[in-house]
Amino acid sequence: MQRLFTLFIVLCSVSAIGQTALQSPAQFLGYELGDRFTRHHRVLEYFKHVDEAMPNVKLTQYGVTYEHRPLVYAVIASTENFAKLEEIRQDNLKRAAVLEGSPSSSKVAIVWLSYNVHGNEANSTEASMATLYELANPSSGRAQEWLKNTVVIIDPCINPDGRDRYANFYNQYGNAIPNPSGDAKEHREPWPGGRTNHYMFDLNRDWAWETQIESRSRIQIYNQWLPHVHVDFHEQGYNNPYYFAPAAEPLHDVISPWQREFQVMIGKNNAKYFDQQGWLYFTKEVFDLYYPSYGDTYPTYSGAIGMTYEQAGGGFGGLQITTREGDPLTLKDRLTHHFTTGISTVEITAQHAAKVVDEFEKYSRDNINNPSGPHKTYVIKGDNNADKLNRIAAWLDTHSIRFGHAATGKATKGFDYQAQTTANFNLTTEDIVISTHQPKSRLITNLFEPQSRLSDSATYDITAWNLMYAYDLKAYALNERVNVAKPYQQKKADNASVAAKPYAYVFRYEAIEDVSFLASLHHNGIKVRAASRTFTIGGQTFSPGTLIVTRRNNESTPDFDNLIQKLAKESNRKIYTTTTGFVESGKDFGSGYVEFLKAPKVAVVFGEQTYSLNSGEIWHYFEQTLRYPITQIGTDYFKSIDLKKYDVLIVPDGNYRLFDEATLDQVSTWVSGGGRLIVVANGLSSFADKKGFALKPYTTDAEKSDAEKKEKELKEKNALTRYEDAERKYLSDAISGAIYKVSVDKSHPLGYGLGNFYYTLKTNELRYGFLESGWNVGVMKGATKPVQGFAGYQVNKKLSNSLVFGVEDKGAGKVVYLVDNPLFRCFWENGKMLFSNAVFMVGH
Ligand SMILES: [Zn+2]
Repeated sequence: MQRLFTLFIVLCSVSAIGQTALQSPAQFLGYELGDRFTRHHRVLEYFKHVDEAMPNVKLTQYGVTYEHRPLVYAVIASTENFAKLEEIRQDNLKRAAVLEGSPSSSKVAIVWLSYNVHGNEANSTEASMATLYELANPSSGRAQEWLKNTVVIIDPCINPDGRDRYANFYNQYGNAIPNPSGDAKEHREPWPGGRTNHYMFDLNRDWAWETQIESRSRIQIYNQWLPHVHVDFHEQGYNNPYYFAPAAEPLHDVISPWQREFQVMIGKNNAKYFDQQGWLYFTKEVFDLYYPSYGDTYPTYSGAIGMTYEQAGGGFGGLQITTREGDPLTLKDRLTHHFTTGISTVEITAQHAAKVVDEFEKYSRDNINNPSGPHKTYVIKGDNNADKLNRIAAWLDTHSIRFGHAATGKATKGFDYQAQTTANFNLTTEDIVISTHQPKSRLITNLFEPQSRLSDSATYDITAWNLMYAYDLKAYALNERVNVAKPYQQKKADNASVAAKPYAYVFRYEAIEDVSFLASLHHNGIKVRAASRTFTIGGQTFSPGTLIVTRRNNESTPDFDNLIQKLAKESNRKIYTTTTGFVESGKDFGSGYVEFLKAPKVAVVFGEQTYSLNSGEIWHYFEQTLRYPITQIGTDYFKSIDLKKYDVLIVPDGNYRLFDEATLDQVSTWVSGGGRLIVVANGLSSFADKKGFALKPYTTDAEKSDAEKKEKELKEKNALTRYEDAERKYLSDAISGAIYKVSVDKSHPLGYGLGNFYYTLKTNELRYGFLESGWNVGVMKGATKPVQGFAGYQVNKKLSNSLVFGVEDKGAGKVVYLVDNPLFRCFWENGKMLFSNAVFMVGH
């Protein structure tokens, strides 16, 4: 019936000359917006319909999600502006100093509206259709007026996979008459919920890191436009009033006065409409502008007025929910509010279009001529690991950040990230130079500045993310300006002189690309060993972890030499060959110290009780970084699985009921028999102080009494905390995310490929003692404070002399404890190396 009805509508809408007449969403879909959750493919069909019906609307596909759903954006302009869209876009890039040349005199503002980055905040995509229709509809006089000087870009759904996950859930469980009680199943999404994308990543934490395909595709087109205003539409708890700009403190100090001022103007314009209707709202609270990877901050650091709008509802909202005050909140209400702020934002921008464009140009001029922040140049030394250099260079490119090499070398000084102090060094023409005199100046400052500059410590997210530490790079921040003279020369492995039939092939093991290569050797059935001691052969010295592929053991591999050389060349590995296994120093290739690496069969605990974000990070790491197969085992049937089929079991960050006495026994027996258990972050509490496991929470008797005394003092102090300072009191005991320096025993397989220190991104307050029967591979010694970021003073004291990562020897097996999550948001590049060691190197 539905299908016939739709067909009827489509036929009726084709006018005599073949041009499709514009339909409202209700006409096209056959129901009023807000009556149900529209599945993504129908949203796309509506956008296509508007594109076909209206000569001044252009729909473009910019990518495909992991689950194969198209990513699209629509551009809406007046007929006159539509004819010169390319000129408008290029004018804007000229104003941003991205393109050379002078812009034309016309000043057209660009507003970009992004919907539904969080899939279960599902009203957004419905609102996008209403907004598109209002702007495209020729009989909307006000929209026609605004479009004279404003181009609007609409992305109806940033996260279609998560959005459809939610829509499918609700369409399955929703009652025919919506049940407004929060008790009803229709308000309770199953694990993992629709907020995140396919790999369960929060796309609103991924703008800068671009670990997900949705982000990578979007940033590419975003940088082709660089809009002046960007709105990221969200939903929050269903009892909250609406939130819109201006944002809360802390605001990063690179944010310009105009960016602050226009946020207030936009907020006041939104408030005008909300006041007329009597709708509640709040501003200047909770949603700050600091962490660079959000849909408001990334645009802000790229020159836009970047904002988050938050409607009440979210996954709990369904079609209707009764609020705390006893009022009904419907999907229709929710989309009306998002429609109102979207339209109001276009209106206020159109009213100030020339000023908006002028201020954008001024912002860009300041970037080029007078960048903010004390550091004018960031230098990444050319003798860092080549893979890391190539990887960070490719990443800089995706953000249109300019970099390259200096014309000449010289002696200079700067902040030394490895020593955390100012030092003299030699700048060479091999080094990567990033000047802040460039269009992405403020983004660069935010990403690389050595000291976090918070105007307020109570931020919404992690307080440090410096990529120099994430990659563990030798790097410097300079106060002086150094210009880029030559483009970056990508580091290519020189394999000109590879011996034909060597005794063995040797590969360094220093970066995640080496791990990917190891994974491909395993995948192709090539037998490989790892040196556990430093050795020298052919005049070259190799570190522990070095991969050695001997001819012996690989005789039965068809076309062995061609295959291994092909694999190595495909992944840009430097091939070392040797005609002997007799080393000049260290252990010979036949030694027991050169250990055979078995391709591990990996199982991962999955589903409820695991934190979906970490489960997703692990999933993504194996599939997208390594292309290595894993078996995910649901917590609901874990007990029935024979663990003997697996070599490695990973327990992600989580809050477990699964590990009762019987299950711990099962796991303990499996480990003792040769299994390798890897436990991440809060997963550790299931094993601490448990029979058969060496992990202990860290408190000595002396400390206990000391701690009790301090706790008493603190309680008394807290008892006198002013009510309005409650949030700050909590922060003294918390780490929302800061970077700490960890001492590493890199002779242990868990430390292979790492330096003497490892920078950990600590996002929890977990504290465990040194392992008494095992290897404390990564530890915090003595007094601790973050090398960058904010952490409560109480936490810093507690972290001294605690375990960060270590290995317990247990029978024939191992337990690897990872107190911090090394795969956090998958942007902590060196963490991937640590995690890889746990999976592939420990326990042979
Ligand atoms: Zn959200």
